[in-house]
Amino acid sequence: MTEQQAAERETESPDVPEEAAMAPDDAEPEDAEDQDEPALDPAAAARRAAALAYVRKFGDPVLRTRARPVERFDEALKDEIERMGELMIDAIGVGLAATQIGVLHRVLVYRVQQDSPVVALVNPEIEWKGGEEEIMEEGCLSLPSVLVDVERPLHVRVRARDERGEEIVIEASGLEARVIQHEVDHLEGVLILDRTSREQRKEAMRALREAQEAA
Ligand code: ZN
Repeated sequence: MTEQQAAERETESPDVPEEAAMAPDDAEPEDAEDQDEPALDPAAAARRAAALAYVRKFGDPVLRTRARPVERFDEALKDEIERMGELMIDAIGVGLAATQIGVLHRVLVYRVQQDSPVVALVNPEIEWKGGEEEIMEEGCLSLPSVLVDVERPLHVRVRARDERGEEIVIEASGLEARVIQHEVDHLEGVLILDRTSREQRKEAMRALREAQEAA
C-alpha cells in the first residue's frame, strides 16, 4: 500500500486531484505527490525507483496466488522480513506483503507512521472485524498509477506470529486496520481492483494499460 492515503488522512481532504491520482511513478515528484508534501530529493527518488523495481506489478500471476503459511521461524525468515521492511520504506509504502516480491509466504510488514518501528506479521489471521465500515482511497505498490475507493471495516483484531514465532494479537483501527486488511488480501491473491466499484475498476484497468504501453 502507498503512503498517499496517509497524507490524505492528515489533510482530511477527500479529493485527490486527477493529475496527482493518475501520475505515473516516474513523473516529476511535484506532479506525483500532493502539493503539501515535500518533493523527493534525488537520492530518495533513486532509492524509491530501485525498490519499486523489486515489487511485482499487476499482470504478474504471483499476485493472484495464495501464499503458504510459514512453518520455519529461522534466520532466513528474519532476513526476509528485514529486507521487506527496507523495501517498503525505500518505496515509500505503508505496507508490503511477501507476495508482492514474489515470495509466497504468509508474511506482511507495515508502518503507518513515519519513524515508528516496522511491524511484521507472520501467518496473520483477521479474527474479528467491527461492523462499522469506511470508504477510503487506496493505492498499491503493485498497481502504479491506480487509486480506487475501497470500503473496509474500521476496526479489526488480527492474530499472528512475530519473526521469532511468538504469538501476537493486534487491535487496529483506522489506517492501521486498513493497511493490515489490504496486505492480508495480497496473501489471498486479492487486489484493491476486486474491492472497488465496476466503474473504478474499468478506469483503473485503462490507467494500468496505458502505463504498461508507455513503459
Ligand atoms: Zn498492495
